[in-house]
Amino acid sequence: MSETIASPSGRLAGKNAVVTGAAGGIGFETCVLFAREGASVLMADISGPGLDKAKQKLLDIVPKAVKVETKLCDVSREDDVAALIQHLDSWGGLDVIFNNAGIMHKDDDDAVNTPERIWDLTMAINVKGIWFGSKHAILSLRKHNKKKGSIINVASVVALVGSATPQLAYTASKGAVLAMTRELAIVHAREGFRFNALCPAPLNTPLLQDWLGDDKEKRLRREIHFPTGRFGEAIEQAQAVLFLASDESSFVNGTDFVVDGGMTKAYVTPE
Ligand code: NAD
Repeated sequence: MSETIASPSGRLAGKNAVVTGAAGGIGFETCVLFAREGASVLMADISGPGLDKAKQKLLDIVPKAVKVETKLCDVSREDDVAALIQHLDSWGGLDVIFNNAGIMHKDDDDAVNTPERIWDLTMAINVKGIWFGSKHAILSLRKHNKKKGSIINVASVVALVGSATPQLAYTASKGAVLAMTRELAIVHAREGFRFNALCPAPLNTPLLQDWLGDDKEKRLRREIHFPTGRFGEAIEQAQAVLFLASDESSFVNGTDFVVDGGMTKAYVTPE
């Protein structure tokens, strides 16, 4: 990829942004766009080696980024999330957080076969992690007397349409993210804090592709429902996150922002 220079007049110029799950597919692509558009970016992930690699890769792409730092964080632990967001106090406080970290466990299954341990783990990361990220973002915005802030929480299309390939804990967790985000959006609207949920379709990222592996049948079961005939790319989600993070979306609040190539609107798909 060719080098990009951070734009001092970019769409996120002057904003301090946190991205969780920053070493993974959507998170990393979002960090690149945020840095390119002039934001100072704090990349957070549970994987230290993943973060180191991701930061280096980002700086190869945007060598003149305003500021890029990394911080280890398990989003299911409130003290980790609090420390993550407080790290931005010396930057002038948070303006944007992309609560993106999430898991889809290989043992997640149907109502009968999903182990309780997997249910609890999925809820701890995918739901509680987003609550903690939202809570500490609100506290930071208030502490720094910010009159606006953008919080973007990752849900999924499975929060909107039923899937016959079960991942019950994952699906329930993403439904919770949608409902939680909607309520946060309404409660905090008068403070100028916007909350939107991103609903990606199945993507070409490790989260899903590792899970599908070489299983052609599992893969086809999904591909047949894509109007476009392909999985989505992480960068296509990141572009939507950039819009939601920027002031261009100043009147967009409480949405289920669907980026799915039309999948959730399809009755039948083209041959
Ligand atoms: P990914 O697996 O590529 O990246 C996820 C990142 O989150 C990884 O770097 C991982 O180390 C990190 N992570 C996992 N647990 C964590 C924790 N407890 N604390 C902090 N970081 C943690 O996944 P992705 O495809 O980029 O997905 C990102 C988000 O998008 C997830 O919430 C996922 O559920 C959602 N999503 C993905 C798809 C898809 O098809 N890939 C579809 C819909 C929604």
